[in-house]
Amino acid sequence: MRIYVLRLGHRIHRDRRITTHVGLAARAFGADGIIISGDMDQTVMNSLSRVVEVWGGPFDIKYEGDWRKVIENYRRSGWRIVHLTMYGLPLLEVIDSIRIDPSDKLIVVGSEKVPGVVYKLADWNVAITTQPHSEVSALAVFLDRLLEGREFHREFTSGMLKIIPQERGKKVLKLINDGGT
Ligand code: SAM
Repeated sequence: MRIYVLRLGHRIHRDRRITTHVGLAARAFGADGIIISGDMDQTVMNSLSRVVEVWGGPFDIKYEGDWRKVIENYRRSGWRIVHLTMYGLPLLEVIDSIRIDPSDKLIVVGSEKVPGVVYKLADWNVAITTQPHSEVSALAVFLDRLLEGREFHREFTSGMLKIIPQERGKKVLKLINDGGT
C-alpha cells in the first residue's frame, strides 16, 4: 500500500513551519511522499528536500496548485482518500477497515478552513479524538495506527547521516562525504 499525504491550503510565511512539520512527520512515520497545495513555497520544498538528502529517502515532495484535481486524479487511479478531521468518525472505529483495504491511500490534512467538498470526496473522514489539535499530531497518530508500528523499522536509504541510538549523548554515522560541512 503506497501512502501519500496531501497538505491543503498552505499559506506562505504563516504555515511554513507547520507544513514543514507535516512533511517531516509524513516521512518519519511511514508515508511515501507529500503533496503540498495552497501557496507555492520553495522554502518549504527546499527544507524537506534537504532533510531527504541528509537523512535519506525515498520520500517524494511535490507541489500541486489544484488540490481538488489531485484528489480526483488519485481517486481515478484507484487510490482511496482518508481525510483527517475532528468531525469525522472515531479512529478506533474505522482504522481496521482502512488497513484491510489494500488500495493505496491519500491522506488529506487541512490548515485553517477545509472546503466542505473534501468531506464528500473522502472515502473516510477520520477523527483522532474529537478535540482540536493539529495536522502534525493527527497525521502521526493516524500513520502509526495504520502501520501498526512498522514505521519504526523503516530503513532509509541514500542519506548522508544515520543516528546510532545511545543511552546518552549523540552518535551519528557519516555515510558519505557531505562536502565537509
Ligand atoms: N476545524 C478543523 C478540523 O476539521 O479538524 C481543525 C483545524 S486544524 C488547525 C488543521 C487540521 O488539523 C485539520 O484540517 C485536520 O486535518 C487536523 N486535525 C486537527 N484536529 C484533528 C482531530 N481531532 N482529528 C483529526 N484531524 C485533526
